[in-house]
Amino acid sequence: MEYYIKTFGCQMNHSDSERISGFLEMHGFSAALDVKNASLVIFNTCGVRQMAEDRVYGQIHNLKESYPDKKIVLTGCLANRKDVQRRLRDKVDLFLEIKDFPEELGRLIGAKNSQESNGSDYLKITPAYSSAFTASVPIMTGCDNFCSYCVVPYARGREISRDPEDIIQEIRNLIRQGYKEIILLGQNVNSYNFGNTDFPKLLKDIEKIPGKFWLSFMSAHPKDYSDELIETIAKSKKISELIHLPLQAGNDEILERMNRKYTRKQYLALAKKIKAAFKKYKPGTPYSITSDIIVGFPGETRKQFADSAEVMKKVKYDMVYFGQFSPRPGTVAWKMKDNVSKKEKAYRENSLNEILKETAAANNRKYVGKMMEVLVDRKEDDAIYFARTRTGKHVRFESDKKGLVGKLVELKIVKANCWNLEGTITK
Ligand code: SF4
Repeated sequence: MEYYIKTFGCQMNHSDSERISGFLEMHGFSAALDVKNASLVIFNTCGVRQMAEDRVYGQIHNLKESYPDKKIVLTGCLANRKDVQRRLRDKVDLFLEIKDFPEELGRLIGAKNSQESNGSDYLKITPAYSSAFTASVPIMTGCDNFCSYCVVPYARGREISRDPEDIIQEIRNLIRQGYKEIILLGQNVNSYNFGNTDFPKLLKDIEKIPGKFWLSFMSAHPKDYSDELIETIAKSKKISELIHLPLQAGNDEILERMNRKYTRKQYLALAKKIKAAFKKYKPGTPYSITSDIIVGFPGETRKQFADSAEVMKKVKYDMVYFGQFSPRPGTVAWKMKDNVSKKEKAYRENSLNEILKETAAANNRKYVGKMMEVLVDRKEDDAIYFARTRTGKHVRFESDKKGLVGKLVELKIVKANCWNLEGTITK
């Protein structure tokens, strides 16, 4: 029997899909390359933006009519939404909350001993990792923050942290298998808490695992960055010098209506503290600060928007993921008037992108002449490789050496562009 899984959205969804694949493969299924060959089709959905949602409808539409014998499962952010269930009730066999998949998917495929689902228990399932050298390891699921625009707390429920022993065991196994990069995942990783283990302690315990590997995490909330956490990151040999610090908006009134629980002043002080810690503990080592910003939140005026631009100029980000506000059913912001036009949202995104181009290019220039360890991601043509630094910079280099994909290699950075670097291999 074959299954086909289509994943939309964030890295957490991709990681969940790896666990679903692991579960199905444990029960005798194999992955189909084409949806036509699969008897079971799973859509792991994202509800963060309308566009992502529409893509799901587009792909599910007609699937049941063309292939009435296939079992179709919808999980992820949209699975719990009553309006989605009504709309797709004739096209989907099972709407599945991700935390329930071992029990409910087990029942659908007739698995013997399908266990009762409970909170984060599904994270105990051994995943079918999609890469042989980079692995995402969930450390928690859910979110308690209720940012007014976000569906996650409704789709995934409240925060549940995973047992640190399970996390450490999973990472030990990965390092033994030769994995070079571990990415800890959660909606709000820095509020991780299990028994006596908080996030800084978890990072320190993972750091003790023998072997050479990079350690990073996403996503972290600015309000949960303690001094201890900043020091732990900046002092670490294994934790990447890459801090994702979602701003969302630079104006206090908008931040309050977003329910972000920090002010612009607090955010700027935090960014300053993080930069100072890197300079103190790793002088001369490049670091990256990246962010997420929403433009056109309901009621955001041009003047308020200008505060986001100003924060960008002060922090000098390496990368920002922009989102034009998209009202999501069930959230607090859904009831607010979406009164910034599409054209205005596009204008605001473009103007912020111009600032980003300048700061990213200036930050990249600091790499020229430096020796950097990179993880090689892929090879194109005969001799062109693409790699990443610990700071998340993409690096292109040429080499006629074979077998570099998945390896850590030393490069000398010889050129900086706006969105990437170029290097030459030295060993
Ligand atoms: S912190 Fe806010 S934006 Fe992030 S998942 Fe939680 S509610 Fe959503």
